Amino acid sequence: MTAHAKLSPSGCDRWSTCTASVALIDKLRGGGEIGASEWIVDRDASEWSAEGTVAHEVREMCLAFGLEPQHFVGATISADGFSYTVDDEMAEHLQTGIDWVREHTGAPHVEIKVDLSPWLPDQFGTCDTGWLEFLNSTTALYISDLKYGAGVPVNAIGTKQLRLYALGMWHYLGRPQVEKIVLNIDQPRAGGMKYWEITLDELLAFGEEMKAVYAKIIAGDVEFKPSHKACRWCEVRTAPGGCAPRDRWLTEMAADACPTFNIPGYERQNLVGERRWLVVQHAPDIRARLAELHEESLRAALDGNPDPGSKAVEGDLGDRYFKDAKKAEALLVGALGDEAYQPRKVIGITEIEKKVKPGKRKQGHPETWEELLKLVDRPKGKPKLVPADHQKPALVEWEDDFDDL
Ligand code: SF4
Repeated sequence: MTAHAKLSPSGCDRWSTCTASVALIDKLRGGGEIGASEWIVDRDASEWSAEGTVAHEVREMCLAFGLEPQHFVGATISADGFSYTVDDEMAEHLQTGIDWVREHTGAPHVEIKVDLSPWLPDQFGTCDTGWLEFLNSTTALYISDLKYGAGVPVNAIGTKQLRLYALGMWHYLGRPQVEKIVLNIDQPRAGGMKYWEITLDELLAFGEEMKAVYAKIIAGDVEFKPSHKACRWCEVRTAPGGCAPRDRWLTEMAADACPTFNIPGYERQNLVGERRWLVVQHAPDIRARLAELHEESLRAALDGNPDPGSKAVEGDLGDRYFKDAKKAEALLVGALGDEAYQPRKVIGITEIEKKVKPGKRKQGHPETWEELLKLVDRPKGKPKLVPADHQKPALVEWEDDFDDL
């Protein structure tokens, strides 16, 4: 069981925009006043979340006691009901962020519960790492947050979660005058070290925004505002029946993209400019929701309560397989000899890196690794669409064509 602030930093992308979600989640979790307490949550733990918890614990112990991640290699640590054995890969992933913290401070504050009450009464968060750096008569506040997930890269620019940690850490450290605030997301498996620098004035202005959001939530002046970021981890979305405002939002986008799909009372919008980008950007959410609905509809049919007009039938046969693989292999070798086997294939570069690249406490094969590096190349990436504030410069192909002419 874990205590979570109702307006927690990690949930800020949701509650600060979709303010109506707070009361709904409250209902799902059994109530209580928003400002008065926290939620005690029995987290849905998974092997992956446990791995993240272990990574945080190793990082915390390294930073607090001057240890190295390699000291933990081979150690089995339990988290959230799972056991995880720290390996070279995790140690290497954690090292970069730890080294960066140490470049700036010898005494970071780690895993500090920071009080957000001045902006969000009775709310709090747990800040991975924070410290003050005094350099050339300037003072800087640093916040560093480990994200061990390999799935979705998290951008440091615009991060609300880290701005809340920064407010809490600044308050915890006695509200010092600081010239800059550096927010760092350390996501070793999805983009590496990411940074965003803001001023104290900008941070405090954000704090005022959060105060205004809090006042609205307390006053019940709330609204549903579905968005990818807001809905992604929202419990309302995954509750039975889902979230009607989000479904409506997704369905309207699907209707815009599909002229034969009519929603009573909804006037299709032309898919140009901003609206087209909105639909394109949310295509994965629309597809995922449709897949969920398909599963629900199938389940209803299998349970003997099919959605009117549908029924479940047996699907196509699955792939063929040998019931006795050893016997089949012997028969095949007898008939085909070596042709019974697929050609041998060299392992992939990620696997090679694990086995060949030398590490701090892993001998590897340094000479081979050096030679292999000379042979590694990567094809150019295909153009892709990203939000306009993405850190990469915009790619405009016609400029190249014009140069060629
Ligand atoms: S699923 Fe999205 S729209 Fe619905 S309550 Fe949650 S954040 Fe708001």
